[in-house]
Amino acid sequence: METILVVEDEPSLQETLAYNLKKAGYVVESAADGRAALEVARRLKPSLVILDIMLPELDGFEVCKILRREMTVPILMLTARDDEIDRVVGLEVGADDYLTKPFSMRELLARVKAQLRRTQVIREELEKLKSAKPAAPQEALTFDNLVINLTRREVTLDGQVVALKPQEYDLLLFFAQHRGQMLSRQFILERVWGWDYVGDSRTVDVHVRWLRQKIESDPANPIRIVTVRGGGYRFEG
Ligand code: CA
Repeated sequence: METILVVEDEPSLQETLAYNLKKAGYVVESAADGRAALEVARRLKPSLVILDIMLPELDGFEVCKILRREMTVPILMLTARDDEIDRVVGLEVGADDYLTKPFSMRELLARVKAQLRRTQVIREELEKLKSAKPAAPQEALTFDNLVINLTRREVTLDGQVVALKPQEYDLLLFFAQHRGQMLSRQFILERVWGWDYVGDSRTVDVHVRWLRQKIESDPANPIRIVTVRGGGYRFEG
């Protein structure tokens, strides 16, 4: 049974979230401020955290950063304003996903399911790795100074490890496996985020932006992940 921690200070939204998540079969605990959220998370070790940004005591940004240091748990942030999104998905805060208020419960449940499935897939991959024979060293994709090590799910640039979030890694790997092909945002969404992911194409744009910051020598003039006008993106290598 998966346990979800809901951190939200608006009582009606907190109740609605808890009600719908319980109905969907999850165990739910709630917290109404940032400090309580940390206490419950440490005790509960939840499978997923739904985290509002505007909270009393500590705000959602701070809570997210602290949780990131202490545990590996997918964090889905609730934002009220568009201008919060860059911080939410950025390196400093690093939420796994976000929803902009107002959102539908159907959308929320789809995101929760997708995040939990990702965690499950990663867990299974780790299990497989543990039982597998040491992998052949050539299990890597190399593009000049950029190397994607498939076995270790690790990317290096000029020999230095690039800190990528799981979704960024998946996106880069997907690009690398379709080098030279024009990939529409919708196609990328479906293949990297999953068929039932209800996000919009901005999710792809935001992740491409962050990926460029990390692997392009001049992110403003990308040469690896290029934008195809009116289409999507193409990975050049
Ligand atoms: Ca709030």
